[in-house]
Amino acid sequence: MLSKIIDGKKIAKNIIHNIKNKVHNIIKKGHRPPGLAVIWVGKNKSSQLYIQKKQIACNKVGYIFKTWHFQEGTDIFKIIKLIKILNKDKNYDGILIQLPLPKYIEANQIIESIHPKKDVDGFHPYNIGCLVQKIPKLRPCTPKGIITLLEKYNINLKGLNTTVIGASNIVGRPMALELLLSGCTTTITHRFTKNLKEHIKKSDLIVIGIGKPNFLHQKNIKNGTIIIDVGINTLPNEKKIVGDVDFYSVYPKVSYITPVPGGVGPMTVASLLENTLEAYEKKHQYED
Ligand code: NAD
Repeated sequence: MLSKIIDGKKIAKNIIHNIKNKVHNIIKKGHRPPGLAVIWVGKNKSSQLYIQKKQIACNKVGYIFKTWHFQEGTDIFKIIKLIKILNKDKNYDGILIQLPLPKYIEANQIIESIHPKKDVDGFHPYNIGCLVQKIPKLRPCTPKGIITLLEKYNINLKGLNTTVIGASNIVGRPMALELLLSGCTTTITHRFTKNLKEHIKKSDLIVIGIGKPNFLHQKNIKNGTIIIDVGINTLPNEKKIVGDVDFYSVYPKVSYITPVPGGVGPMTVASLLENTLEAYEKKHQYED
């Protein structure tokens, strides 16, 4: 029997390998490699770890990679000033603000100051609006990575009943838009949803990203469900990372499932590299 486990690590590795070859050819032709600028504020430990992962991936494929770090309390206009400089800097095709930002900063104000064509996280209202209007440009990395995974496993999404659990700007909302674009009948649920179990029970595909370990278990799902687990949770007293799904309980009932780690996480980084290359290849003239 074929494995039911969707191997995000392997697929991400292939994507990164292909990008590396493309960058090699770009440099061979005498052009500069794609460049990614990362800005972060404060001392969030997870942010540091995620930036490190992005740096390792960028180094692997040969991108220019640079970080700018601001202390917590830095005036927001100082950060926006840097973004405006980077918007015009021809060495950087992508600009990324590492989230979460400290509470005193209005994330939208920062994100909106990034030029949409350099918005490789895909969070700018312009890029989200394009996704809404079925003309995707730079797409949010985690949902894009999930669609890539489903495509690589030849899962036909047309007409599937799907439930997205979690409705954040970075996971749930853009995920629902991606699924809609792929022809699914999609329900978005969140902390105020009253009849979550009923939505889950009739779903062919569930994408969950809420940050609650073991939230989804076998009692509520139907046989043959596809489960995509976006959650990343560190269990107290253990260094182990787990998702939002009670993996071993649901496993006998699913047709496919992503593990944590090794499922969605590596695809988020791979999609970021894809977006940066896409921004590079478009070779736009950047203007304010
Ligand atoms: P968030 O806190 O911004 O949003 C959580 C969402 O879950 C909200 O919409 C909330 O309404 C919903 N929610 C909370 N409790 C719920 C409940 N009981 N029932 C239904 N919905 C509920 O979080 P986020 O930034 O979207 O991240 C969610 C999870 O995904 C976290 O574990 C995060 O670490 C992980 N994540 C993983 C990746 C990846 O690449 N694998 C990327 C981004 C986020």
